[in-house]
Amino acid sequence: MSKESISTVRRMLLGTGCALPLAALSSGAEARAQAPAKWDREFDVIVVGSGVTGTVAGIRAAEKGADTVVIEKLGRLGGTSRFSGLNFACVGSPAQKAAGVTDTPKSLADDMARVSGGLGDYQLALTMAENTARAEAFYREHGVEWDGRLLKLGGHSAKRCLVAKGDGAGLLKALWKSAEKLTNLCFCTGVKLDDIIIDSEGRAVGIKVRENYVFDRSSEDDDLTNETGTVRYWKARRAVVMATGGFARDRKFRRMEVTFLDGVSTTTSPGATAGALKAMIRAGARPVHICLYRFAYPLPTEDMIWGVMIDPATGKRFMSEGETRNTLAAGVLQLRLRNGDRKPFMIYDTKALAKFHNANRVQRSLNGLNGINGTMYTFATLEEAARHYGADPAQVKATVSAYNEIIASGRDPEFDKPFERSGRSVEPIDPAGPFHAIEVTPRLNYTPGGVRINTRAQVLSLEDDRPIPGLYAAGEAAGGLHGQERMTACSMPDCSVYGMIAGENAADEPRK
Ligand SMILES: Cc1cc2nc3c(=O)[nH]c(=O)nc-3n(C[C@H](O)[C@H](O)[C@H](O)COP(=O)(O)OP(=O)(O)OC[C@H]3O[C@@H](n4cnc5c(N)ncnc54)[C@H](O)[C@@H]3O)c2cc1C
Repeated sequence: MSKESISTVRRMLLGTGCALPLAALSSGAEARAQAPAKWDREFDVIVVGSGVTGTVAGIRAAEKGADTVVIEKLGRLGGTSRFSGLNFACVGSPAQKAAGVTDTPKSLADDMARVSGGLGDYQLALTMAENTARAEAFYREHGVEWDGRLLKLGGHSAKRCLVAKGDGAGLLKALWKSAEKLTNLCFCTGVKLDDIIIDSEGRAVGIKVRENYVFDRSSEDDDLTNETGTVRYWKARRAVVMATGGFARDRKFRRMEVTFLDGVSTTTSPGATAGALKAMIRAGARPVHICLYRFAYPLPTEDMIWGVMIDPATGKRFMSEGETRNTLAAGVLQLRLRNGDRKPFMIYDTKALAKFHNANRVQRSLNGLNGINGTMYTFATLEEAARHYGADPAQVKATVSAYNEIIASGRDPEFDKPFERSGRSVEPIDPAGPFHAIEVTPRLNYTPGGVRINTRAQVLSLEDDRPIPGLYAAGEAAGGLHGQERMTACSMPDCSVYGMIAGENAADEPRK
């Protein structure tokens, strides 16, 4: 952009404003960075974020001939994707065909809609499901190997989930290896996007970055307080793709949305802060579902139902153990706000452990090999278990005995616990022991909110719901697809499919 046109934009902002496009008028337009007199670097497509979404988008844009860069604010590539399982719900994979599984994209989209609380975008989910087989083929063509399992995970109506050899890290390493042959694709670490530059016609034409950025893991709100790096302006001749992931690590940002998320721990990458989301909002994007969240536990949520959950402060039950992952987390975290931040604990007997759907994970917990707060301890008596968690032994004994009567009666008048799951019944806790106990520690592992996109992965404007030209978003940076409960193994297809679509469409944008 020339000097002349910059001053024209300034005049319009300060003056009547009536000639501005709607996107430029939306929240934060005045605070947004303006195009420089001279760009420091130029690319056809700039992809921001190097997790699975950004890596896939970058490869597809480059394969379509665009001169492409993928930038990453951390010192290493991969984001949350790198230490995720990246279990992949895929319809129509060779593994499904070999196993004779009947499945359809509609069936996957319907499964997702069932748990979304009516908040998920069905069309986005269906387009995702329809493209999972194409994404699966893309991965195989780029060196990814599946480990041979075909899983039917919680909420899925068919065996459809694939796991890459080496999980997320293995999948990304294969992709990065295959990307080495693309001479028009480069990855740059230590480069942080601060702002998206929108021209006078409302089009995303580049980004303001800081090169040599040093991410500060100890900061509660890195994007706001970190002043490292040198400011530069990079032009995107065709488009900008935001693949910046979620914001589960941004304690300050999530606390403003949901009070009880303040102190909760997270398993996401340290880079999962909200700066990129704010930049998209300043660029005129519509934020969606920002106060939704998703939790994971050291052991599968589905298996909580087999035990009794006790508040150590009172020695009593406080909610149904058969709730969904997010309802359980909300109940537990709100309890902790009331009880001096004391973690509740579950008690199981040995026959309950046999009902868990992943015996290996239970064994790892019993062996102390299941991460922070994931250890399951065995006690000969309930009194010992109660003392271990600082609860009143007599009260815990009375609670378990009352719980057993409730199960035997077939009705839980106080908390309405369901007594059956996946064709198996909840049974009373054997008073003879032994007793196996574990703390209940919900950990934030995903933020379903982000910016609203359409099925072409174009970012939609807050003002008029139209695509912001030249601006794409995909993966966890986008929101609205999943709703209240994001089904297990369904972020990976979202990241893969919309990463592919964003990269391809970005490369097809006219060159400016
Ligand atoms: C422990 C764990 C296990 C999981 N298991 C599964 C699973 O089995 N199946 C499944 O479907 N989902 C799973 N998930 C969720 C899934 O892994 C994530 O949703 C997914 O990896 C997100 O990918 P992404 O590429 O969108 O973001 P990320 O992988 O987080 O990448 C985003 C990148 O953008 C960078 N970035 C952010 N802001 C900027 C900026 N301003 N400038 C430059 N770079 C920036 C970040 O540093 C980061 O590296 C799991 C999550 C966790 C935490």
